[in-house]
Amino acid sequence: MKPETEALILVSNDDGVHAVGIQRLAAALAPLGRVVVIAPDREQSAASHKLSLHQPIRVTEVRPGALAVDGTPTDCVYLGIHELLGARPDLVVSGINHGPNLGTDVHYSGTVAAAVEGTLMGVPSFAVSCVARREPNWDHAARFAAELAAWVLAEPGRLPKGVTLNVNVPGGAPPRYRWARLGHRLYDHSVERREDPRGRTYYWIGGNPSPHADEPGTDSQAVRDGFISVTPLGLDLTDFVAMPAAPGHLGSTELEATPPAPADFRLGSRF
Ligand code: MN
Repeated sequence: MKPETEALILVSNDDGVHAVGIQRLAAALAPLGRVVVIAPDREQSAASHKLSLHQPIRVTEVRPGALAVDGTPTDCVYLGIHELLGARPDLVVSGINHGPNLGTDVHYSGTVAAAVEGTLMGVPSFAVSCVARREPNWDHAARFAAELAAWVLAEPGRLPKGVTLNVNVPGGAPPRYRWARLGHRLYDHSVERREDPRGRTYYWIGGNPSPHADEPGTDSQAVRDGFISVTPLGLDLTDFVAMPAAPGHLGSTELEATPPAPADFRLGSRF
């Protein structure tokens, strides 16, 4: 019988419950506690933080310890924490994503959203992605995820409340990791306009790989240099620098006093 103090780890992703990455992640985390996989029943990449509010959500056990949800990554973590696990998890890990989640891409990522949902629910959470799409190095990404998970679980408060970690693992055998800020992706904003067999127009967004800006200190630069990048994402999106820039009045509407930024303005400080 396993000890009562065993950690409960919720694993999710946006590539779907049958993806290789989530199975490698679950296996790597297994020595750290009880791992439960709750993931979408199909690929949900770029689902962002969608929560399904307007349709029933079905859950099916696809293998021991793995549940498939016909919903989004956010649905999976929400249902896991509040219903399916039966106990509050000690950690949420999302991934291992097949492909990078760097810079501004985090706003579109379902992988990152699943981890952010865990953080919003007050559970320490991080996301892991393999940068190389052709030959993802699952082993190295899984090992780093397990090492990071062990560090987070070792002591309460290792990860500040309201902070999600976003990890990207480059190809090869990265020997080091680096703390990095988010970079910027130079999207080409391509849209293909096509015609279906019945003569009706349809559109296809994206498709072309686009580069990341060359900026020192960023996650994209770190993985380009061959390092694993770890980016702490704060969930309070308020820009306290921009606030004072507002004019004293806008037409007939006067500016009410602007509150100063609190010393610790992380969303988590209110949990
Ligand atoms: Mn994905």
